[in-house]
Amino acid sequence: MDFKIQWFPGHMTKAKRMMEQQLKLVDVVVEMLDARIPRSSSNPMLIQMLGDKPKVVALNKIDMADPEKTEKWLQTFKNSGLPVCKVDCSTGKGVKQMVAAIQQVARPVTDKWLRKGVRNRSIRVMIVGVPNVGKSTLINRLVGKNKVVAADRPGVTRGQQWVTIAKGLELLDTPGVLWPKFEDPEVGFCLAVTGAIKEDVYDRETAVELLLERLMHIYPEDLRVKYAIDFSEAEPVREVMAKIAVARGCLKAGGVLDIDKVIQLVLRDFRTGRLGRFTLDEPSENN
Ligand code: GDP
Repeated sequence: MDFKIQWFPGHMTKAKRMMEQQLKLVDVVVEMLDARIPRSSSNPMLIQMLGDKPKVVALNKIDMADPEKTEKWLQTFKNSGLPVCKVDCSTGKGVKQMVAAIQQVARPVTDKWLRKGVRNRSIRVMIVGVPNVGKSTLINRLVGKNKVVAADRPGVTRGQQWVTIAKGLELLDTPGVLWPKFEDPEVGFCLAVTGAIKEDVYDRETAVELLLERLMHIYPEDLRVKYAIDFSEAEPVREVMAKIAVARGCLKAGGVLDIDKVIQLVLRDFRTGRLGRFTLDEPSENN
């Protein structure tokens, strides 16, 4: 696949340093992944940074992901021994179960504290993930009306606070931002079309062409029904774009196709889930 992203290694170094600092503050990490792209939205460097700190994987945006593939992904994570849960932060579905999963993975930590005679210490949790995966939405849900514990503890940046979200469980109210890893063009493509990468660092037209080509093969019926068009899977993508333009009135004066408008339309429809429930990363045995 030919898909390029212009990016700057300096940003990564800074994000990595910040993440390492933040990780020192917490006992458990929740890595939030986008259920539409569980592989592409994960950051393989996190595992090294975590050491033996327990982690829970939260698959978010399941309302927009292919339910069948989500189940396969859940199984893949379970097979590799990772505690995993699915959440829909836009409605709050699955959030309670996620808190229970955090409490469960934290048990060895609290047991160790008890053996050392440490009591009344809360487990500290941080949500981490690539941009736009839903971290702030989850934090807002968890914080809700819960009480802020104490601001400005050592190591906590000004403005960051701990919030009690369950008995013995404190959440850092600022998420850890993982830098997207898109050296692999396929990963870059997945992050771009789902909105995890700023639009000024890649070519939107290429991204939409690749997206439509992909959807024409894996979810052709959704495309046909949602845009009320017909096409064969072997059809050139530009022709399908033209059909969408006509069906949706993306035309300039004189009936000329407005390709910019089609690009905008397809990206918006995909990102809002209006086109259908799609998962771009295929679950497999070796994830
Ligand atoms: P962050 O950058 O990781 O903090 O992401 P945000 O919390 O700002 O969320 C990014 C966008 O995703 C927002 O428009 C949210 O409303 C949306 N969002 C978050 N969680 C979900 C979800 O479970 N389902 C859907 N459909 N949208 C979500």
